[in-house]
Amino acid sequence: TAEPTTTAPAEGEPAGTDPAATFTELYGSEPDGVWAAPGRVNLIGEYTDFNDGFVMPLALPHTARAAVSRRDDGVLRLYSTDVPGGVVSLRVDELAPHSGHGWAAYPAGVVWALRRAGHPVTGADIALTSTVPTGAGLSSSAALETVTALALNDLFDLGLSAADLAVTGRRAENDFVGVPCGIMDQMASACCTEGHALHLDTRDLSLRQVPFDLAAQGLTLLVVDTRVKHALGDGAYAERRAGCEEGARLLGIPTLRDLPYEDLAAALTRLADAGADESVIRYVRHVVGDNHRVEQVIALLDAGDVRAAGPVLNEGHVSLRDDLRVSCPELDLAVEAANTAGALGARMTGGGFGGSAVVLVEEAQAGTVAKAVEEAFAAAGHAAPGVFDAVPSAGARRLS
Ligand code: ADP
Ligand code: MG
Repeated sequence: TAEPTTTAPAEGEPAGTDPAATFTELYGSEPDGVWAAPGRVNLIGEYTDFNDGFVMPLALPHTARAAVSRRDDGVLRLYSTDVPGGVVSLRVDELAPHSGHGWAAYPAGVVWALRRAGHPVTGADIALTSTVPTGAGLSSSAALETVTALALNDLFDLGLSAADLAVTGRRAENDFVGVPCGIMDQMASACCTEGHALHLDTRDLSLRQVPFDLAAQGLTLLVVDTRVKHALGDGAYAERRAGCEEGARLLGIPTLRDLPYEDLAAALTRLADAGADESVIRYVRHVVGDNHRVEQVIALLDAGDVRAAGPVLNEGHVSLRDDLRVSCPELDLAVEAANTAGALGARMTGGGFGGSAVVLVEEAQAGTVAKAVEEAFAAAGHAAPGVFDAVPSAGARRLS
């Protein structure tokens, strides 16, 4: 095939550790192959994926990489260059959900999910390394799952599609690790392509690659990693999810996806009349609004008018801040400082309560805006944020 065989960093990717060298050092032989799967950032469409709605992520140049050899003796050995503790050795037939294993539960969960689906995965030696910032809302966990699933798919000839791999990764995270995430992160890592954002319909996983060639337009998308994670986020996801389900129930529809944007105002009145909690009304307004904003941004990208997406990103942020209430002072400051310094638009991205924001900015202004955000953080007494270019990059692939 015409698979790329280079293991050099892609444009915008920080240099990482070589997983093949690590593999050989650890396990004493060459790996059967090396695979990569990216982290992602979501351009628009937040908290919509558990409402059967739309999302629009793009893959980052930052990847998880895995050097892997298959085994046929039931042994699974896992190692990450990024966490202390050495090799984790497990038996594939003893894998059980919610049984700990720390970070290793993510790749082990993929093996478990494949085997539970009837795939004959009989063991592996795996050496992982990643340049995706961890816990920054950039899906380091999905990158780890997806790269593991892709490697095993190739080595055991499972014949799974990219979407199958994403579903496998999500099962690992939901059912084995025990984290209730939607399907966006794994689909982005598995299916994104260079120079595109992914329009994903989370109802049926239908997707379209939307051209998003920022450089050709003289634009930059910055990621601002606030480097904070507030504990408040832990229960918030489940609470928002329950509120959205309550809204759909009161409106008599299966999910909020089924409420057309044109009917939103009338629906909000009906919810108030039905005595819905005011939080439910806010959540419905956010979700239906953000689904609509995905469609707006897609129309603008298709029309070649990327700059006009800026104000839509700002509206998305206000909705996440005021209606869904999942922002935090650091994210609000990043958005405000970026806009004050001349960005076209900005919003928090991912689950919120910390993590990252995206900033759409003229390429020529990117340095100024990044500096303004850093100075605003320093002035407010926050730790320095991590700021980098979100070059729309390739999804999961075999490297060698
Ligand atoms: P996010 O996916 O937003 O980065 P999560 O909390 O979902 O944050 O996932 C982070 C977890 O994924 C880490 O705590 C760790 O268990 C695991 N993980 C991610 N990257 C690596 C890595 N390179 N090596 C080992 N574990 C990793
Ligand atoms: Mg994650």
